[in-house]
Amino acid sequence: MYEPGRLITFVLSISTVSCSLTEPSRQEINQFTPADRNEMFCVIHDGEKNLLLIESALMYPDGSVNINAILVENGIIKKIGDLETLKSLHPKASVLSCTDTLLSPGMVNAHEHLAYGYAYPDSSIAPIYSHRDEWRGVSGHPKPLEEVLRTADEKTLAWIELRHLLAGTTAVAGSGAVDGIVKNIADKNDPRYPLKAEMATFPCSRNATQLFENYSCSGNTPGLPAPNIVEGASRPAYVPHIAEGVNCTARLEMSAYLQYVEKGSERRYSLIHGIDASAAQIRELADKGISVVWSPRSNFALYGKTFDVMSFDKRGGSIALGSDWSPSGSFNLVEEMKCAARFNDEVLGSYFTYARIWQMATAGSARALGLEERIGAIVEGASADLLLVGRTRNDPPHKSLVFLDSQDIIGVWVDGVFKFGSNEVAEHLSPAGHCEIIDDSKSLCVKLNRFGASWAELKEHNANNVKIFGEPSAQADCKWF
Ligand SMILES: [Zn+2]
Repeated sequence: MYEPGRLITFVLSISTVSCSLTEPSRQEINQFTPADRNEMFCVIHDGEKNLLLIESALMYPDGSVNINAILVENGIIKKIGDLETLKSLHPKASVLSCTDTLLSPGMVNAHEHLAYGYAYPDSSIAPIYSHRDEWRGVSGHPKPLEEVLRTADEKTLAWIELRHLLAGTTAVAGSGAVDGIVKNIADKNDPRYPLKAEMATFPCSRNATQLFENYSCSGNTPGLPAPNIVEGASRPAYVPHIAEGVNCTARLEMSAYLQYVEKGSERRYSLIHGIDASAAQIRELADKGISVVWSPRSNFALYGKTFDVMSFDKRGGSIALGSDWSPSGSFNLVEEMKCAARFNDEVLGSYFTYARIWQMATAGSARALGLEERIGAIVEGASADLLLVGRTRNDPPHKSLVFLDSQDIIGVWVDGVFKFGSNEVAEHLSPAGHCEIIDDSKSLCVKLNRFGASWAELKEHNANNVKIFGEPSAQADCKWF
């Protein structure tokens, strides 16, 4: 757990660092106070670019927070330990050390359809559906939503990925990807997806209503059609959309999936949604180790209710978080955490701590994708996908992350490469010419010319699409029945 006393140690250790750094040469020392954060003080020591030490309050997967340092070498968290010890072992490393900061793993979005993520919600969106086949217009509902077209336009996809990156997300599972922004995850033979998980959007055909129409709506119906799954040795995690709805079809989808997944399977099986799972199904999900990717805003916007995360957690189930897509979900994962937190406070009696909600968006999501050893946690051997933020004054550490404001971001790294953050950090930790100042205090260090555009041109190109900063009021409502 967080120990307030350690904060004093942290401040003191910063003094020690700045003293020891002032000895060799004043040109090597750079001290700054990030814009608008008068209470913070950072020290940067320019060293080798592929060797970086970051000292901060580290946020561990178990919810504890302790002042310590990490050594990032060639994109990997190589070592966690005391800054002075790591410095003595790696005297040529660059060093970044700031007071009053938190170092979290970059957030992992376990469910996002990036290729549709430019679109605002349909003005007629309302929680009037009992299955997604209805708003998709395949099962005869009188008010289907307007169809959103998939985009493959790189300038649009880059804009969408930047929206997630600039809100602290470093990895996104789902189709639609460009190089060099977030880390994309899907089971595709395509270098733009460096990590694999099988994200199945239509595991029960594109019309589950029709597929299940001749089965009795009983949880015990035997012989239900199995999902359309490719199996084999070393297959990546299977993460299908299951039971996105609250009707008989949705319950049968869940039964079919539970009949399919064996307890103790070697492969990681997860599911997205499961909105109206019964108490017995929730127990079975937890007992079979199936992770559930929770997307509360999209569930509320379309169906008025969501998966019973509290019962699932009490049974020991593992929960991930995903924003689904901009037409009915959150515009980024922070907005999804805020929706989860509000539901938790107003309906679940604050059952989940802020640490648990943050954990869903990091290690929980990584587990659902079968990637917990690679992403979503600050552990030795994991990718250096990192998020360094200024603490929001007086808030407990995890609350600062759940309600993160992009302005509080000091740095976002993907595979140890600085992508976005304070101008001062960008200036010292990115090669010259890699970064562009995009507002008064923040720099973007992504080579936008690979998409044939500057920052200003990307903005212009996406003038009618969901914007990058702000606009939470334009999202679908996070409101339940
Ligand atoms: Zn989805």
